[in-house]
Amino acid sequence: MSTRPRIARTVPALRRAMEPFARATVALVPTMGALHDGHIALVRQARKRARRVVVSIFVNPTQFAPNEDFGSYPRTFNSDLKALAAEKVELVWAPTAQVMYPEGFATKIDPQGAAKVGLEDTFRPHFFSGVATVVAKLFTQVRPDCALFGEKDYQQLRVVTAMARDLDLGVKVIGIPTVREKDGLAMSSRNAYLTEHERKMAPVLYRTLKASAKAIKQGETIERVLEQGRAHIEQAGFALDYLEARNAGTLAKVQSLKDGPLRLLVAAKIGKTRLIDNIAI
Ligand code: AMP
Repeated sequence: MSTRPRIARTVPALRRAMEPFARATVALVPTMGALHDGHIALVRQARKRARRVVVSIFVNPTQFAPNEDFGSYPRTFNSDLKALAAEKVELVWAPTAQVMYPEGFATKIDPQGAAKVGLEDTFRPHFFSGVATVVAKLFTQVRPDCALFGEKDYQQLRVVTAMARDLDLGVKVIGIPTVREKDGLAMSSRNAYLTEHERKMAPVLYRTLKASAKAIKQGETIERVLEQGRAHIEQAGFALDYLEARNAGTLAKVQSLKDGPLRLLVAAKIGKTRLIDNIAI
């Protein structure tokens, strides 16, 4: 039987729980819960890189717009704890919104650069300031040596990496490859929203990314490949937000393979569910 992780819900409780970690290296895995094998891959990498692993579970209200799914976002705290116990995680940082944003909270980080390139930021204008602010708080609360983020949220990974560097937060941000279902669909807590039919269609995104990346690598014109990919995704029943090839480091627009290394990124809605994915070219 694995022991249940200790749960800290206030900053003083977190500090107390971390006292025994004082001389050890600490890795933080920030999550919004509803844990799946993608999150667990981050936990396992964290374990390899540090003596102590802290997992945060916090559904951050400030990164959701009023019309988004904050209210319905899956919350599965008890099964999350079981999954983390199986990974021998000792400490879960699970503050309430009141602890994170007490009455009078009035500070916001407004990231630039990769946060303003016309991808997620166009469709979710609240998102990156919400993410940057909460991640900065998680870093200063937990004070980890490193923090693990998934490439699944590629623009987020770039934004958080830049923030940690720009603000000298002293945390090494490490990106972890996307964990996928057998049919290629990127694991996501939001996959739980998909109907049976939508779930069958969902891998079209990854298949299109792969086919497009291959065609671009073979020298086909990027814009022509993307036009075909966009049409394919829309024909499969998605409402497409974007399918774009960008510089993998800056996320700046690109004309050709010479502007690389390149990353191919997609976001599309099927029914009520918005899915994102990306791969290297
Ligand atoms: P979330 O709980 O969705 O905010 O995700 C927490 C962390 O897990 C983020 O760094 C995500 O990028 C990462 N993550 C989510 N899905 C996956 C996946 N399929 N593979 C790898 N990492 C993931």
